[in-house]
Amino acid sequence: MRARAQSARLMARARAVFPGGVSSPVRAFRGVGGEPFVAARGAGARLWDVDGNEYIDYVLSWGPLVLGHAPPVVLDALQEAMQHGTSFGVPAPLEVELAELIRARMPQMEMLRFVSSGTEATMSAIRVARAHTGRDRILKFAGCYHGHADPFLVRAGSGVATLGLPDSPGVPAAVAALTLTAPLNDLAAAAELARSGDGVAAIIVEPVVGNAGFIPPDPDFLPGLRALADESGAVLIFDEVMTGFRIAPGGARERFGVTADLTTLGKVIGGGLPVAAYGGRRDLMRYVAPDGPVYQAGTLSGNPLAMAAGLATLRALTPALHERIAARTTELVTGLREVAARHAVPFTAASAGSMWGFFFRREPVRSFADAQASDTARFRRVFHALLERGVYVAPSPFEAAFLSAAHGPRELAETIDCFDAAFQVAGAA
Ligand SMILES: *Cc1c(COP(=O)(O)O)cnc(C)c1O
Repeated sequence: MRARAQSARLMARARAVFPGGVSSPVRAFRGVGGEPFVAARGAGARLWDVDGNEYIDYVLSWGPLVLGHAPPVVLDALQEAMQHGTSFGVPAPLEVELAELIRARMPQMEMLRFVSSGTEATMSAIRVARAHTGRDRILKFAGCYHGHADPFLVRAGSGVATLGLPDSPGVPAAVAALTLTAPLNDLAAAAELARSGDGVAAIIVEPVVGNAGFIPPDPDFLPGLRALADESGAVLIFDEVMTGFRIAPGGARERFGVTADLTTLGKVIGGGLPVAAYGGRRDLMRYVAPDGPVYQAGTLSGNPLAMAAGLATLRALTPALHERIAARTTELVTGLREVAARHAVPFTAASAGSMWGFFFRREPVRSFADAQASDTARFRRVFHALLERGVYVAPSPFEAAFLSAAHGPRELAETIDCFDAAFQVAGAA
């Protein structure tokens, strides 16, 4: 067994000061049992814990680290930017440069606003949609996670799913009642809800779901939602906090040919620092203060260090590099399917760009209910067998995995061998 005495000591101290010993719930390993390891440092595709154990990392800080840990281009950009100060609270060049770069890759982001977390981005996007439509209700999909703001903690994925909290206490019933939820990939259910009453302000969706495990959309799902939004007067919001700069260089619009009215971004655009954004049609973004009456603000929004990290990351992430990471991701997923087949483990795995995931289930997973019907006990055993061998995937069956530019042939081969060994010891039903 890997020794984790230092991690255990630090977690004991952490539990005295933080609920569950963590700054965000899934980090506590409640979805898989056991103690989390405590990180000391990361470099490239790898993480080391405070006991000196090494892991190939497929969580990558839950998505942002598309270039891997501590990439020199990002560290250099931070060094340079911090010489000039850490926050200004007035307009500064880097925020304009990052916004222009994002818009060049995602032309539907005609105007945008930077915020500091994905939660703020989605919260603000629905505020704009509500102002525009004059409607209060929104439509989301079961298993999608859009951050922890009140309106989204209704049948949500990610940590909410991991911890089995279908709704969170503290969310007023009157707020939760304004959120309608349809099953993923179920256009008929979505249409019925979107057409009910006086309609909905917004239809919000993760274009490729990563917070209920990895669930790609059926081919007609996103075009169907676009048509439904047009017909019912709802604002279509693609929550690309996870998929942005992961599923294609230009996100969902490029991959699926469907354009949302508003898009939320986060994770990759901050290169490991806290940045997110919401944006889209100019006429909608004109509602935002001070151009319009919809209030939204942030003391540290457009923070120069965060902007520098985001810019360095997106500049390095050329379409050619994106393709290279995507090809490696496909290679890994193919390799894992072969290993699972050899061990006769019921397994389904898929990827989109540099985002991937797997379930212990023979049939394809199209909905959150399908994901929940996968063999989660087997997931827990395999998770621990992988961790013991130095492969770190998210500590929950309801999270996607990622690849970075730093995951090379060596890491892939090592990972496939570790899955082989993990299925050997923990793959049986
Ligand atoms: C991570 C995530 C969020 C929330 O972002 P935070 O920065 O954690 O607030 C919202 N939507 C999606 C799709 C996400 O993956």
